[in-house]
Amino acid sequence: MSDSKVSKKLLIDTKGKRVLFAEAGKDCVDFLFHILTLPVATIITLLKTQGMVGSLPNLFQSLETLNDTFIQPNQKKDTYLKPISPVSSSSSVPLLASTAAQIQKNFYRCTCNYNRVSDDPRATCPSCHRALSTTVTYVAPPAVVEAWEDGGLVKGVVTYMVMDDLEIKPMSTISSITMLNKFNVKDVGALEEKVVYLGMDEAVKLLKTSLQSNKVLTDVFL
Ligand SMILES: [Zn+2]
Repeated sequence: MSDSKVSKKLLIDTKGKRVLFAEAGKDCVDFLFHILTLPVATIITLLKTQGMVGSLPNLFQSLETLNDTFIQPNQKKDTYLKPISPVSSSSSVPLLASTAAQIQKNFYRCTCNYNRVSDDPRATCPSCHRALSTTVTYVAPPAVVEAWEDGGLVKGVVTYMVMDDLEIKPMSTISSITMLNKFNVKDVGALEEKVVYLGMDEAVKLLKTSLQSNKVLTDVFL
């Protein structure tokens, strides 16, 4: 699994027990920016297992348990519960994207021999004229690190600086020296570099922490 993980290098102030910033490549930055495109319902689904706080899970569950008889005949609850992210998964953003795709995509097929399939169960098979009523669940391919090189959002030639509060900017030597001043780091000997990997678990944890903390990297990785 480790080859489908994204790595980044943390600069840690061991005395202050905090992450000053992370040096991250395109894959990591793409992942972080991708969070912006996630529909709220997708975030709730992803964070369910992490014990999401607040009232949004109740809102979600209310619709989930609401009987279909209360829903307009031309509407589907899944449109709200499993919304499609406006940024297509073909832009190949790792981690949360593949999970979201697995959660979201259902197809419907006919039971006759013509293998007709639709993304809407109201469609009728043109061959046998029955409803395409058998649910088929789409399974996303495993996220492959190499494939992100050309896709995603930001350009890959630059290294980016991700601050503890998730402020992101292109990295330069000058900016890291300025940073050390800004952080008031007196003892450079107490600084330590650590490479961490961002897998599915860390991604979900990072998403959760970003909703409630402004020292995300410290909270997730230390
Ligand atoms: Zn058919």
